[in-house]
Amino acid sequence: MASSQFQPIQGMSDIAPPDVYIWQMLEARAREVFARYRFEEVRTPVLEKTALFTHSLGDTTDVVTKEMYSLEDRGGRKLSLRPEGTAGSVRYIASGAEETANARIYYMGPMFRCERPQAGRKRQFHQIGLEAVGAPNPLADAEVIALQINLLSAWGLEGAKIRLNTIGLPEERAAVLEGLREAIRPRLSELPEDAQQRFETNVLRLLDSKDPIVQEIIADVPSVTELLSDESRAYLDTVVETLRGLEIDVEIDTSLVRGLDYYVHTVWEVVHDGLGAQNALSGGGRYRIQIDNKTIDGVGFAMGVERMIAALEATGVTAEQFAPEPAVFLASLGETALKENLLLMQTLRQRGVACEMELTARKIKAQMKRANKFGAKTVIIRGDTELEKGIFVVKNMEEGTQQEVELPELMELLI
Ligand code: AMP
Repeated sequence: MASSQFQPIQGMSDIAPPDVYIWQMLEARAREVFARYRFEEVRTPVLEKTALFTHSLGDTTDVVTKEMYSLEDRGGRKLSLRPEGTAGSVRYIASGAEETANARIYYMGPMFRCERPQAGRKRQFHQIGLEAVGAPNPLADAEVIALQINLLSAWGLEGAKIRLNTIGLPEERAAVLEGLREAIRPRLSELPEDAQQRFETNVLRLLDSKDPIVQEIIADVPSVTELLSDESRAYLDTVVETLRGLEIDVEIDTSLVRGLDYYVHTVWEVVHDGLGAQNALSGGGRYRIQIDNKTIDGVGFAMGVERMIAALEATGVTAEQFAPEPAVFLASLGETALKENLLLMQTLRQRGVACEMELTARKIKAQMKRANKFGAKTVIIRGDTELEKGIFVVKNMEEGTQQEVELPELMELLI
């Protein structure tokens, strides 16, 4: 590929054929599954007020403090490219009245995080996600997880696992955080500097740290579940039992806390072994977000499309498998036939048949070569003789046979 001074910036890429075919498949099948569960699409802006994200996601989270693409517009307003889809969705939900009280919405589109680009981490990546609004109910959480399982199988992914945990209610959070701090405090000075800072700002995030020193210290600390109330533990049990009833297996992972402040009760991740270090395909959880004097309770997830594709490719799926069917090719001999074929092509396209032709008069050999290159299975040849007789030569490229037909028969063959 020729290098250009205008290449996309690092961590962002063009998505073009053949790769885009797998994207189209994922999006189309997701829409089908969402429709069956009665979710409807909402498309929120990609650029929003920075305050929406700091307010909804919490101002101590990595996504907000380190990873947002933020800018000031000409009027001095502070804006950010959305790093995730829930904040915008919840803003939309809160803006409505009654009709959004039980909103079930989904979204798909680009998200932006200024992370160090590496395998599995892009700066523009894409998510397909949903939000189901409603008071905490373990059955609602299980329903959303069941939807996700259905989605994964509609996409043809084998071998994904769900890891589930609870982080309890906001009322309990202070006690949980204090319980964790108390257990960690005797060894605080052994923690690396950034972990010491987390100890103060977001001690939960120490639990899923990848740093071996932190992990060693955390190993002796009680799990969040142990620090929670019986009620919160019972909520988790009901989610797990409900899923079992739906024949869905999940694994409880007490180190799972997720990065954002708004979670309550159930949190989960979908992981896949085909992915390497960044093995999370999706994050999900129940949340409670205060916005515009309203409290939005909901449960949702966001699947990373790039990672989903990597997982599918690790299991042998290729984008080419989802390439569109090749078009019918119209070959013309002479200027008159070319014009007539243009009319025929327009008619066929209007009737739903994909077709193409050369728009300049060329030798039949060159046209057949092009038809072959496009993988056309059917070529319709017309020259002066065919025009005079009102017939079409239909060539079956796979079998190498050809036949002469009149218009009604041609239409029947193609439509
Ligand atoms: P999160 O909002 O961080 O829970 O992310 C949800 C999902 O989005 C993850 O499980 C990943 O599949 C995907 N994801 C998050 N960040 C990135 C990134 N920088 N590059 C690619 N995919 C990402």
